[in-house]
Amino acid sequence: MAQAEATITDEFNAFTVAQRQFDIAADHLGLEDGLRLVLRTTKREFTTHFPVQMDNGDVEVFTGYRVQHDLGRGPAKGGIRYHPDVTLDEVKALAMWMTWKCAVVRLPYGGAKGGVVCDPKGMSLAELEKLTRRFTTELAPMIGPDSDIPAPDVNTNSQTMAWIMDTYSMHHGYSIPSVVTGKPVNVGGSEGRVEATGRGVVFTIESAAREIELDLADATVVVQGFGNAGSVAATLLRRDYKCRILAVSDTSGAIYSSAGIDPAQAVAYKRQNGALAGMPGTEPLTNEELLALPCDILIPAALENQILASNADRIQARIIAEAANGPTTPEADQILYENGQMLIPDILANAGGVTVSYFEWVQDKQAFFWKEAEINEKLRLIMTSSFAEVLAMAKQEHVDMRTAAYLIAVSRVADATRVRGIYP
Ligand code: GLU
Repeated sequence: MAQAEATITDEFNAFTVAQRQFDIAADHLGLEDGLRLVLRTTKREFTTHFPVQMDNGDVEVFTGYRVQHDLGRGPAKGGIRYHPDVTLDEVKALAMWMTWKCAVVRLPYGGAKGGVVCDPKGMSLAELEKLTRRFTTELAPMIGPDSDIPAPDVNTNSQTMAWIMDTYSMHHGYSIPSVVTGKPVNVGGSEGRVEATGRGVVFTIESAAREIELDLADATVVVQGFGNAGSVAATLLRRDYKCRILAVSDTSGAIYSSAGIDPAQAVAYKRQNGALAGMPGTEPLTNEELLALPCDILIPAALENQILASNADRIQARIIAEAANGPTTPEADQILYENGQMLIPDILANAGGVTVSYFEWVQDKQAFFWKEAEINEKLRLIMTSSFAEVLAMAKQEHVDMRTAAYLIAVSRVADATRVRGIYP
């Protein structure tokens, strides 16, 4: 089959998955044809090929993308990821998911995402800085504090955001912190932003546990992916709720301990050794074994396409909380729903990150900063009330939690489009 055809029909193509999820909600809502066309298409797709001089003097050309899906409810918002497998279709899907995510938690933003095809693990800090500054320069026509505001995502962090903010500011001649969120605190970042995605995931798990009457003390947890979202969620579930973290994984492999893994120790071990694999007191597991472990809560916190028609039946968790974007395909959703498992969809579960990004942007714009306790409390309110709305919708419409979240999000974005009208 030709490459182009394979991309379009591939059941694991993230954009195809995103459109199928949207179609389920659009059908259920009886959305009119015109609006359906508008909302299942991205608004702008920007591709750039740009040079970076590497440490050895060679010039390499990198490919980067920024996609804006919808701007009906406000400026575009969404992270930038660095990964060898980034594709335009993946970034399009991630941009669409950001639109629904912002709508589910009522942030006044549309959705965007960016990505650069690169292997950041094989690059020096100096090379990453040059790549980031040049990509920011290429993105100049897209980004801005009132048009499109990037943030961290897979393999990018507060340092990356500081470079973006600095590069953009240098071009304007003065500091413009609100062009990007997820910055270090002393250059306009927000307290609590680093932990926000993981903390938000935990707030939704708390709500889900209450609903299914699961006692979180000694509840067993499995976390796939030990980046910013997964490691914080594991740490808070252990520290604040006394859950038992049975297994965690990163790109080096998965580790298991029936007595429980101390996430703080795992973070320290990974920092020192660069990988989780081999941590003393743990046994190695394959990724498939990790997902199929008997446990109460499974947190996919890595990449797309992890829970599929082929393995969904083996998942035993009662609650699946999607810290990652797009880890579950629509076929797998159906299987989990029929098996009575509660899946908290990405656009709700991991919305804590963009929520505190919004707080950061508001603080930057008013140049007045809040304390962490205030931020965490505001985050809790948004996450728990959004969860309650989605759960009520799921019960009312007899649908799974993802479809319920989409019904709410798509209605809000559709309403914005209708009331604004089609220009001209
Ligand atoms: N990359 C994060 C996400 O997928 C955060 C986006 C943001 O803060 O704008 O939600």
